[in-house]
Amino acid sequence: MAGLDPARSAAPAGRTYTWAYAAYPARVVFGHGTVGTVLDEVERLGRSRALLLAGPRVSEHADTVAAVLGSSAVARFDGVAEHTPVQVTEQALTVLREHDADCVVAVGGGSTTGLAKALAARTGLDQVILPTTYAGSEMTPVLGETENGVKTTRSSADVVPEAVVYDVDLTLDLPVHISVASGVNAMAHAVEALYAPQVSPLVQASALTALSRIAGALPRLVSDPGGTAARADMLTGAWLAGICLASADMALQHKLCHTLGGSFGLPHAETHAAVLPHVMAYNAPAVPDVMAQIAEALSAATPLIAWPAPAGDRHSSVIDDAPGFMFDLISAVGGPLSLRELGLAEHDVPKAAELATARPYPNPRTVTTPGLERLLHAAWRGTRP
Ligand code: NAD
Repeated sequence: MAGLDPARSAAPAGRTYTWAYAAYPARVVFGHGTVGTVLDEVERLGRSRALLLAGPRVSEHADTVAAVLGSSAVARFDGVAEHTPVQVTEQALTVLREHDADCVVAVGGGSTTGLAKALAARTGLDQVILPTTYAGSEMTPVLGETENGVKTTRSSADVVPEAVVYDVDLTLDLPVHISVASGVNAMAHAVEALYAPQVSPLVQASALTALSRIAGALPRLVSDPGGTAARADMLTGAWLAGICLASADMALQHKLCHTLGGSFGLPHAETHAAVLPHVMAYNAPAVPDVMAQIAEALSAATPLIAWPAPAGDRHSSVIDDAPGFMFDLISAVGGPLSLRELGLAEHDVPKAAELATARPYPNPRTVTTPGLERLLHAAWRGTRP
C-alpha cells in the first residue's frame, strides 16, 4: 500500500504530532456481492425488523437488498432527499414507528446515510449502511440536517452506523459525472486530514492510500465505468477517506464547501471538486511538506496522464505543484472545475467569503476574508492554481 511506504508516511520535518484516535465500533464488510450478507449483518446485531431506506435512483439495488432481507424487511421508505431535511426524517420516523422497526438498513449515497443517522439520533436504533457513492459519511459520527433552510451539523458516537456493507457491484452504475465528483470529495477528506494538527500515523497512512487509490482509479473509471477493478479501488479509497473524515478535524475546504452548499445551494460533491485545488494552493505555503506527500501519492498513481508540466524533470515539477496536479487530474477526468458552472453568481463571492470567515476554525494558514475572496474568484473562474 502506497500509504505505508515509510518514506512517504514519515512525520514531516519540523512538525510534531499530538494525536488522538477514536476507533468507532463500525463493522465493515467489503467485496463483490456482499449485499448477500446484509441479513447476516442484521441478525448479528440481534435485530429482525428492518426499515429499508432507499436513495433516489437506486431502487433496483434496494429491491435486491429487500429480497435478501426477506421477511426481516418490515417496511421501506423511498423518500430520501438531499441535505437531510427534518420534515423527511419525521415522515420516515412515522413509518418506522408504524411498523415497529428495530433497525435501519440504508442503500444509497451520503443523503441516504444522513437519513439513517437522523433516525438513529432520534431512536437509538442500529444502522446497517450499503453506500453507493464515495461520500464517506457511513464512517463518521457527524450528522448534518436541514431545517428552515439552515443546515447544521452535530457530532455524536450515537450516530455512527453499527455495520457498513461495501458492495462494489452497487457502484457499477453510478454515473461517471457523479463518480468523479464524489471521488474528488473523498480525496478532499484525505487532503485535509493530512494537514490536520492531530493526524495520527494510521490516519496519515489511510489518507495517502486513499489519494493514490482514487487518483489511480479515476482515469480507468472514466474510460470503463463498469470496470470492477477501478470501482473496487474507488470504494476502498472512499472507505479510507471516510476514516480520515471521522478522525481528523476538517479545515478550510470543508468549511467553505459547507457554506457554499448551505447558503448558496451548490451541489455537495461537485463543489468540493471545484474548490479543492484552490484550497490546496491557499494552504500550500503553510504546509509544503504535506503538499509534497500528496503530489508524490498522486503522481505515483497516475502515470498515464500527460501532465502539462513545465520543462525540466517531470517528477520534481509535480512535487512542487500538488494543487496544479490536482487541478489537472480533475480536468483530465472531466470533473467540475469552476464555481461558475455550478451556478454561483460572481457577485455572491464577497458574501461567501464573509460567511466562511464568520467563525474561526483551525487551518494551516490563517484564513482572511480578502484571502478567501481571491481564492473564491479563482475557483469561480476555474483557472489552474
Ligand atoms: P447523494 O447521496 O445525494 O447522491 C448523489 C446522487 O447520486 C443522487 O442523485 C443519487 O440519486 C445518485 N446515486 C447514488 N447512488 C447511485 C447509483 N448507484 N446509481 C445511480 N445514481 C446513484 O450525494 P453524496 O455526495 O453521496 O452525499 C452528499 C450528502 O452527504 C450531503 O448532504 C453531505 O452533507 C452528506 N455527507 C455527510 C457526511 C458526514 O460525515 N456526515 C460526509 C459526506 C457527505
